Amino acid sequence: MGNRRGIYIHIPFCVRKCNYCAFLSFEAETSPRTEYAEAVVKEIARRGEELGHPDIDTIYVGGGTPSVLDVSQMRDIMHEVGKAFRIKEGAEITIEANPATLGRKDGVMLAKMQAYKYMGFNRLSMGVQSMDNDRLHFLGRIHTPENIERDMDIVRRKGFYNVNLDMMFSVPSESKEDAMEDLEKILRFDPEHISCYSLQIEEGTPFAAMMESGEISEIPDEEDRDTYHKICARLREAGYEHYEISNFAKAGYRSQHNSLYWNMDDYIGIGLGASGFVNGVRYKNTSDFDEYFKAIDEGRFPVEEEHVNTAFDNISEAVFTGLRRVEGITYEDAMDAYMRAKDADLFLDSKKPEEAFWEIFEEAKEEAEDYASRGLLMIDGNGLRLTEQGIDISNSIMSLFV
Ligand code: SF4
Repeated sequence: MGNRRGIYIHIPFCVRKCNYCAFLSFEAETSPRTEYAEAVVKEIARRGEELGHPDIDTIYVGGGTPSVLDVSQMRDIMHEVGKAFRIKEGAEITIEANPATLGRKDGVMLAKMQAYKYMGFNRLSMGVQSMDNDRLHFLGRIHTPENIERDMDIVRRKGFYNVNLDMMFSVPSESKEDAMEDLEKILRFDPEHISCYSLQIEEGTPFAAMMESGEISEIPDEEDRDTYHKICARLREAGYEHYEISNFAKAGYRSQHNSLYWNMDDYIGIGLGASGFVNGVRYKNTSDFDEYFKAIDEGRFPVEEEHVNTAFDNISEAVFTGLRRVEGITYEDAMDAYMRAKDADLFLDSKKPEEAFWEIFEEAKEEAEDYASRGLLMIDGNGLRLTEQGIDISNSIMSLFV
């Protein structure tokens, strides 16, 4: 825990906003893409210099839709990453690419994929969401199932053999059978990794307005959980490890970058609205383009919030994120996160990790044991983990440790 380092680069542009989207992204056509790519290059150079050009284990370019940037803009960004940091041999380097954004003609798309390979990308994450045309349209996605088929064909032809496909379930008016049909179609692509998310209706989105007017309604919790467990069972049967609440991977293909967040490792956030966790400090960049460009022009970091984690923050976050993984969190890793903060109570270091852990979470112990007696949480001499039933109420269980 805490020994690796990653970089996250945010590209806040999409062809069009999806109806459920609460991510920081703007329509590409009317956004300052060129100026942004140039500013990101400068921020990368500055961070690299500030941190002394450290070793990097993972890079994740996400969004938004990074594949809407021109190849030359992405090349400049990745070139700067290579100059500012020491990318370790075998580093996982991911780009998010939505279907129908890689080029209209096969030749253009093949060239773009080739360029991504030259830039060092070795993992691709695609927002498929559904394989049903009506549902894709309802979600506000710009692609069709045919686009996905074609894109996946070219992705494989260009030699990308570490691919994640995102799938969404519990879309209003979707039945359990619809979701399972989507999953079967996605499985036909034989992706190395699948992320399955249940649709959450977020404030300020077109879906939230539609829900308010009674046009749509959320899928009831019980049905949502039932679909989730069916998906988990089917993916296990298809040979995927269910290694985190929403993530499934073939052996050897767990997302290294996401694991870094869940392990409380350092990650450097670059770009509009990006968050980072470096040397015990959490920071968040501004989400305002003008502020972002101004800070970069003035030679500052575009950071709007900074927080030095206390020892309790560290252990609380370690438990919170650790419980998302099927392996859960060990007392040893939790205490390791605790002891890394400057204000840690050094006396606890002389105790056994299990004892020290429960001394910190003394008030949570009784309730945690109650969850354990109901088969929702496993507690043993090594640590704790959620059971599959416990995942259904993960937020309540995790909140005991906040
Ligand atoms: S593609 Fe993703 S980031 Fe872009 S609008 Fe849709 S959900 Fe949001």
